[in-house]
Amino acid sequence: MADGLTAAVLAVGSELLTPHKTDTNSLYVTKVLNDLGIAVAFKAIVGDDRAELTSHVVHALARHRVLILTGGLGPTDDDLTREVVAAHLGLPLDEDPAIIEAMERRFAARGWKMPAVNRRQAMVPRGATVLPNPHGTAPGLWIEHPPSHEATGGKRYIALLPGPPREMMPMMDGDVRRRLEKITGSVRLHRRLVRVAGKGESMVEEIVQPIYSQWLNQSPPIVTTILAGLGQVELHLVMQSGDQAKASQTLDAAVSDLATALGPDLVSTDGSVLEAVVGDLLRARGWWVAFAESCTGGLATSRMTDVPGSSEYVERSIVAYSNRAKIELLDVPEALIAEHGAVSEPVAAAMAAGIRKRTGVNVGVAITGIAGPGGGSEQKPVGTVCIAVDGGETRVRTFRFPGGREMVKAMSANWAIDLLRRYLIR
Ligand code: ATP
Ligand code: MG
Repeated sequence: MADGLTAAVLAVGSELLTPHKTDTNSLYVTKVLNDLGIAVAFKAIVGDDRAELTSHVVHALARHRVLILTGGLGPTDDDLTREVVAAHLGLPLDEDPAIIEAMERRFAARGWKMPAVNRRQAMVPRGATVLPNPHGTAPGLWIEHPPSHEATGGKRYIALLPGPPREMMPMMDGDVRRRLEKITGSVRLHRRLVRVAGKGESMVEEIVQPIYSQWLNQSPPIVTTILAGLGQVELHLVMQSGDQAKASQTLDAAVSDLATALGPDLVSTDGSVLEAVVGDLLRARGWWVAFAESCTGGLATSRMTDVPGSSEYVERSIVAYSNRAKIELLDVPEALIAEHGAVSEPVAAAMAAGIRKRTGVNVGVAITGIAGPGGGSEQKPVGTVCIAVDGGETRVRTFRFPGGREMVKAMSANWAIDLLRRYLIR
């Protein structure tokens, strides 16, 4: 029955529209809703402004059956959330003596008298349920509209929660979650995360679009989102369903279609990051790796060692930045550098072979390039990077990365790890 249940989230508070304060409540609210299989269709940050707030509440309730608001429940004149929602639903506000009493007790416990303005927080839209707030004065409110039991289909569920995250979070994850669970039944959002390397967003889109466009027509549909990062693309698959087993099966089949289409560009289908996938491949072979890094200054090794347990396959690395280091520590022939330049495929290959022989590891990876902004030439512009992998057989590739120094370094490290992955799955 909850199939297709969608939600809107409104973060209320003018301070959230300044550069000084970030809305984090909506992220937390979204996480709880998603856990319950409720997709958030839109969210907005709204200032303490009656007209703005009213128009967003009207829009949200016209289109979505769940509305969660945070903030603006306080005692001051600029706290408008309860008034605006009540007015829109045509519900009168009644003072709840139990809330007054609880607030008076709260203040008395600190030896204070309750300020008169706080009475405002005891105003409850008729028919609403009061949600206790153990960490603050403003209670939350839960409204089912229309309230009659006969109302099905179009019934709206509205939660008003206080703004301070430490008050809001336990209420969202407690009372509100329990109430929503009764509505959604067994419907949940089921997800898969597929990681892709070596192709840009548009290239990945071109390959997978014909596949995922079909999923949109099935029932329930699988919705795919493409997110691009540096040298990596993520495909997020989401499906709303009350049948856990069927959803798993459908998503597995979908992921396997993607895997076939993507071939060796597919990094993982379980959300594992590139460096963890490479770690697993090395461990499975019982192989050790060593890196010889020039322009990346150790960045590739840093990423490899972000993975717990990487000491089982990362042997060492050498940051060989100068020509002298390449000659002294990696046995790169001086003449090779003189002939081809430090940024060249023969030198990258010699660095990879050198670190492999010197350390006795199974596979050596080398990176040499021009990160910029200086040092480029017409033949070898900034962003020219040569990467070699040597595990007995040598593979070497030259890249021209766009962007500034930081981006060139990040892309180089990513490609070095990815070329190692491709070597290991060959
Ligand atoms: P109070 O009774 O404390 O006034 P309230 O419901 O009126 O509660 P607000 O006044 O809107 O809440 O916000 C109180 C505090 O919570 C502020 O410090 C604000 O920065 C923080 N806050 C409000 N909304 C959010 C949000 N969406 N994300 C993060 N912090 C928030
Ligand atoms: Mg307030």
